[in-house]
Amino acid sequence: MIKYKNKMKQGSLTLAILAGLSLSSMPLISHATNISLDKMTTDVTYLASDKLNGRANFSADIDKAANYISQRFSDIGLKPLHGLKTYKQTFSVTNISPRVLTLSLNNKKIGDDKLAMASTMTEISWQEINQTNGVQSHVISADDKFSDKISQLNQAGGKHFVLVNTAHAKMFGRYRNYFKGGLTKLNLDHQGAIVMVLTDETKINSFNLVGKTTIAKKSLTNIVGVLPGKSKSKEIVLYSAHYDHLGVKDLDNESDGSDTGKADVIYNGADDDASGTTAIINLAEYFTDKGDNARTLMFSAFAAEEIGGFGSRYFSEQLDPKDVVAMINIEMIGKPSKFGAGTMWMTGADRSSLQSLLNAQLKADKTNMEIHTDPYPEQGLFYRSDNATLARLGVPAHSFSSTQLDKDQHYHKVSDDLASLDLNSMHKVIEALSISTQGLVDGSITPSRIDVNKVRRNGKIY
Ligand SMILES: [Zn+2]
Repeated sequence: MIKYKNKMKQGSLTLAILAGLSLSSMPLISHATNISLDKMTTDVTYLASDKLNGRANFSADIDKAANYISQRFSDIGLKPLHGLKTYKQTFSVTNISPRVLTLSLNNKKIGDDKLAMASTMTEISWQEINQTNGVQSHVISADDKFSDKISQLNQAGGKHFVLVNTAHAKMFGRYRNYFKGGLTKLNLDHQGAIVMVLTDETKINSFNLVGKTTIAKKSLTNIVGVLPGKSKSKEIVLYSAHYDHLGVKDLDNESDGSDTGKADVIYNGADDDASGTTAIINLAEYFTDKGDNARTLMFSAFAAEEIGGFGSRYFSEQLDPKDVVAMINIEMIGKPSKFGAGTMWMTGADRSSLQSLLNAQLKADKTNMEIHTDPYPEQGLFYRSDNATLARLGVPAHSFSSTQLDKDQHYHKVSDDLASLDLNSMHKVIEALSISTQGLVDGSITPSRIDVNKVRRNGKIY
């Protein structure tokens, strides 16, 4: 029998029984209840509700989620970040959208549908390829790997004029759409541009390119609560999740023929990532009640994960990453993983010693639980959430998830709603996180740092 982590909570037991579990068949871990199933359910139900219209960045709806999380942090008794009066860490980002783009190439005017631009500059006017203006030209031929080539230019930064062979028309169209939506940047420190033209020309005899962008500042808000450490307060354990999602479907751009009059249009993001946001709120409550944290615990609900991870990027610039002992980023834990209900896996397991330390804790507590290795390495999930930002700074920063991303019918769909979740499975995952990370909290374990040289950098332009 495992030791009880906390006093048994009657409410959760009643719910578990109502959910169809008999007391005798219920594994003991379920009623050790570090985490209240009641409160967890209330939180995820609200965050994933239609009232929040999919929690889109820059919308008034995401503020409702921000206020809710703030209120929970306040009720729990967390402190704001040093230097802030509230839990809201507000910052601005810059939106840069293409406004004008015209090109004549070898004395021929090129149609707008053959042009694409990603630029962090207000205006470009290129007539020559030379050292002085810093413009470089490239040809992507039919046999080249288009996205690899563009990605290299993005990593390098600078000014690039690219002739893309028409064999890549489809992929070109995707990039064009993406760039047309505009770029969001934390700052405009890097001045660069990639302009692509879809053409079978491979020689540039003459050209005249003019591009202009519209630049607008917008604000975003992370919600951060702090539980100060009792004895190692300089050392930080960060629990995080993102609370933004995709908002409401733009029906004008839909051509699936569905009945738009009645169709569900709200991206509720119950799994992505109301589930993770709910987890950090309830872990905050658990560790506050427990009160034995040697280290400082930070609970951060990040904005803007879905549009490029700007919340975590800004957050990471406001502290010394060396102080962060570990980052437990929780992403999509609302449904059973391929390893079964109540199980989870973590990304980048081989990059630090965190996985083995957490599993040692689960074993010592005789839980029969295990944190698995990411079963979808080909999906590059290590880079697809906020953990990557802190990993680039050396923090043992990993995402914990249970999504079956290879066959999840609800991923980034309007059907990612409360009804698609398995709340008992989700509860078990949060329980497992509360148990496995105890050593981080009490200061008895310290994972190895991530090798920053093995973490891919962000692109400079888009
Ligand atoms: Zn997402």
